[in-house]
Amino acid sequence: VAKGAGKNQWRRYEAHLHAEMVERLELRSALDHAVNEGHFLLHYQPIVDLPTGAAVGFEALVRWHHPKRGIVTPDQFIEVAEESGLIVPMGRWVLEEALRTVAEWRRILPPGTAPYVSVNVSVRQFRESGFVEQVRNALTNTGVPPQALMLEITETLLVKDDERIWGDLSVLRDMGIRIAIDDFGTGYSSLGYLRQRPIDVIKIDKAFIDDMVTGQQPMALVSGIVSLARSLGLVVIAEGIEDAAHRVVLVRLECPLGQGFLFSSPLGPTEVLAWLRNSQPIAV
Ligand code: C2E
Ligand code: MG
Ligand code: MG
Ligand code: MG
Repeated sequence: VAKGAGKNQWRRYEAHLHAEMVERLELRSALDHAVNEGHFLLHYQPIVDLPTGAAVGFEALVRWHHPKRGIVTPDQFIEVAEESGLIVPMGRWVLEEALRTVAEWRRILPPGTAPYVSVNVSVRQFRESGFVEQVRNALTNTGVPPQALMLEITETLLVKDDERIWGDLSVLRDMGIRIAIDDFGTGYSSLGYLRQRPIDVIKIDKAFIDDMVTGQQPMALVSGIVSLARSLGLVVIAEGIEDAAHRVVLVRLECPLGQGFLFSSPLGPTEVLAWLRNSQPIAV
């Protein structure tokens, strides 16, 4: 009996694996189609000055406008996009679209007041040759100055010894583009390691912000990151702030910038200007 049950279990497991594989293949081909047809859009989430709540920049976050499923968020397709390499053409579109958008903000808003745009970049985009040229061309074509662009690269994806990527980041930074390490704290890199690197901004992962008010230890951790970052001349952005209490603590720790649902969820492109007009920055 036990043996038979085991066999059935195995069959179910096989069927499950099979279904999963088919699903991934379907997702991949749908994604391929979406890349060719341009079925993506960007939402923008404000990055705010924590003491005043005023927006200094916006992070561009990709969404898939699926013909049947509606708006699909990246947790459901980024992994497959990375694996399949489709992240490369998708990422190119994201960069160009984000720059077209920031160019429009700069046309509409009073001089010197337009926020910068921050774009997530996959390590695979760097591995493809010509990424630096791609960024340079996109800036030229849209007339956006490099100072209005930030590039975010996820900490866990940065291979320590990938000197070529660090070399590209260094060139981009010398052009005047801000470079941010995303999801800081989830990988293995210490701030000491990042000291020698071409970086301007550290984004502290949401997990640390969530734990901050409940436990004493995580607060010491965030406090340590903020003060060490400052001594290294790096700017810190706290990610995923949902709670006014978190903001109060972060301001007390002198964390300069933050992002999260407390201020705004990611906005559609037409909502950004209205948000900027209507938001009354509230100081704490
Ligand atoms: P990320 O770059 O760390 O972006 C932050 C994510 O947290 C976004 O999810 C954002 O909507 C969400 N978020 C912001 N504030 C809060 C909050 O207060 N609470 C909670 N629970 N979540 C919050 P999203 O848009 O689903 O993106 C997920 C991840 O997908 C991003 O994480 C980024 O790693 C990746 N991604 C998004 N757009 C792109 C892109 O254009 N290119 C690449 N390569 N990756 C992207
Ligand atoms: Mg990001
Ligand atoms: Mg992040
Ligand atoms: Mg993330």
